[in-house]
Amino acid sequence: MQGRYSRQIPMIGEDGQECLIRSKVAVIGCGGLGCNVMTQLAAAGVGEMILADKDVPSETDLNRQFVYAGKGTAPKAELAAEWVRQISESTKAVPMNIDLDKRNAASVLKGCDIAVDCLDNNRTRLILNAAVLEKGIPLIHGAADGPLGQVTVIVPGETACLECFLPEADPGTIPAMGAVVSVIGGIEAAETVKMITGRGRPLKGNLLSVNAGTWEIRTVGLRKRPGCDACSRND
Ligand SMILES: [Zn+2]
Repeated sequence: MQGRYSRQIPMIGEDGQECLIRSKVAVIGCGGLGCNVMTQLAAAGVGEMILADKDVPSETDLNRQFVYAGKGTAPKAELAAEWVRQISESTKAVPMNIDLDKRNAASVLKGCDIAVDCLDNNRTRLILNAAVLEKGIPLIHGAADGPLGQVTVIVPGETACLECFLPEADPGTIPAMGAVVSVIGGIEAAETVKMITGRGRPLKGNLLSVNAGTWEIRTVGLRKRPGCDACSRND
């Protein structure tokens, strides 16, 4: 078993590998970001993954959502769970065929050590944000819009939250290409591993912005916004 992870153990330690094996991660959204995050976390040896999404794959998803290529019309969450089990027999994959909302958020996150935002809209992101603040677990936020992408790590009580800086309004259908979405999903997966294993310096309170059109990459500090409702409810 440990042989499978022998090339990453020099980076995260035997103890870090044990942390991954014991961890339970909620992957919220099984679209382009989610396909990359679930694949890398299963390969890294995460013990249990919640896979939440209500959609069924459509042809327009397949330029980036490689998990569903050649599959039928089953819900993404179920196809994703099959995919994760194929990659890693030791990862328990729990499909949840739902849209995250205020009523189900607490039960979706039940027992999870960390949540990963693989959503495509800010309305649902703010619901997820409120739920992780309430529960006190870290959230890896990621978003992609055409060539642009961003990632940050929210730690309840310590860093700014999503409501501190994310606009509520959502654009319509956003352009998306698999190669760009893979970069952002890959960064999210790396941040998840860092938070679980305690290695490296995660993007806590820092927003990493990537422009794949020019490869301009920036990191800016995020401060809690005075008057943020979500923060003040949980301080
Ligand atoms: Zn806030």
